[in-house]
Amino acid sequence: METLVYDIGDSRYINLSDRCTLRCQFCPKTHDELEVHEYDLRLTHRPSAEEIIDALGDPAQFREIVFCGFGESTLRLKELIKIAKLVKDRGGRVRVNTDGLANLVNKRNVLPELAGCVDALCVSMNAQNEAVYIRHCEPSVKGSYQAMLDFLSLAPNYIGDITATAINGLEGVDIGACEELAKERGVKFRQRELNVVG
Ligand code: SF4
Repeated sequence: METLVYDIGDSRYINLSDRCTLRCQFCPKTHDELEVHEYDLRLTHRPSAEEIIDALGDPAQFREIVFCGFGESTLRLKELIKIAKLVKDRGGRVRVNTDGLANLVNKRNVLPELAGCVDALCVSMNAQNEAVYIRHCEPSVKGSYQAMLDFLSLAPNYIGDITATAINGLEGVDIGACEELAKERGVKFRQRELNVVG
């Protein structure tokens, strides 16, 4: 039985995709660890929006509905937007945890499409420069680091609650410099700890 939705604390998480254009060295998936907390997030097929909606329950009962699994949810933009709209219609709050590469991969600014149905974005900045980013995230699409920074700059024009994150304890990552990049873009910053998922 696949885990389409799972709960951490008082939030419900949606496991929409197991694909990424990054291959982060710190990601459990990269090391074939397919469980987060007690949940096995392996997907054997790409779940439809309807399957997720059937599994979702009442979004208003949770602090947030969070798009975050073992892949990048914005690679399935159409489904993400359909589910997020339904969550909003049913009185829920939507957060998307993302690599910030949606505009690069979709080759257009998708923020206006997300604006109506996403309350918060949590963007993995991960590094204070491209060399450190490439070392830890191994992007498969050229220009990913700059595209992520551009996405962070644009995002506050469309969505009210934007947070950039970086992981404390990764070699070469300068948390203070990451925080500064976030500040320059008018977004919040949150430091995450290595090997703590959620
Ligand atoms: S973007 Fe997220 S899910 Fe994808 S490899 Fe990196 S940490 Fe893992």
